[in-house]
Amino acid sequence: MSTVRKEQQLAEYLLNLPLCIFCNEFHKSENCEEVRSTVDRIEILLIKELCLVCMSHHTSFYCPRREMICSLCNKMNHHVAICYLKDKPAKDGN
Ligand SMILES: [Zn+2]
Ligand SMILES: [Zn+2]
Ligand SMILES: [Zn+2]
Repeated sequence: MSTVRKEQQLAEYLLNLPLCIFCNEFHKSENCEEVRSTVDRIEILLIKELCLVCMSHHTSFYCPRREMICSLCNKMNHHVAICYLKDKPAKDGN
């Protein structure tokens, strides 16, 4: 067993820890209880200059995943965490 491999695993483990982009706590950003409003979340992403599609450090324009489809509304160009559907109460129809 090499130490390099262990360090690599640790790095991967840390990378995969769900650190919330909005409040910096350990949970998935889309499940954030601190910042729930979509508008507030978008504002934070804009202030931090993060991509609205994948929340990485680039603008949405250059996003390699900008054609990723939101699993909530099935539309493109935004992350599930900032989907406008989150703000709406679940309703039947349409
Ligand atoms: Zn949070
Ligand atoms: Zn992106
Ligand atoms: Zn959506």
